[in-house]
Amino acid sequence: LPIIRAQTSPGYIPEANFYKVEAILRPWRIPQVSSALLKMGIRGVTISDVRGFGAQGGSTERQAGSEFSEDKFVQKVKMEIVVSKDQVEEVIEKIIEEARTGEIGDGKIFLTPISEVIRVRTGERGEKAERMMGGRSDMHSSGSSN
Ligand code: ATP
Ligand code: GLN
Repeated sequence: LPIIRAQTSPGYIPEANFYKVEAILRPWRIPQVSSALLKMGIRGVTISDVRGFGAQGGSTERQAGSEFSEDKFVQKVKMEIVVSKDQVEEVIEKIIEEARTGEIGDGKIFLTPISEVIRVRTGERGEKAERMMGGRSDMHSSGSSN
């Protein structure tokens, strides 16, 4: 099986130790999502108020009938969470579990490889910078942390 792909091949996914999970979600679901993430040891989260255009904008447009004049951007919240690669899937699953209504407009999740994490206060890099007090590594390791 040819597992190694050239970096120019269409299916190539860059490998990284850290990934950014970027989720565009319904604003009123954010408290539920963030408290669930907190419970699983996620401490570092950045959110922004954004406005976006997706399928939900399209359906409003059809009802209103006007093509260009109206504002079709819908209020959303963008949640950005940088985690180590072994945490990526559980974070994604949790977000879906807490944010999903099943209706059009539930949002989307994008995954980006992150090449480095640096803590400004200490200058730490990599895992030392990604780990946070009260985080998952704190919760699971009984003693042997750095
Ligand atoms: P310190 O120990 O110096 O407080 P820290 O790692 O806890 O460092 P902060 O300086 O408290 O980081 O974080 C500043 C901001 O950076 C947070 O408010 C948050 O928006 C963002 N942030 C920190 N860590 C992450 C992360 N892993 N993913 C997404 N955003 C993060
Ligand atoms: N993985 C980190 C920890 O367990 C937490 C990462 C985050 O909160 N985004 O400490």
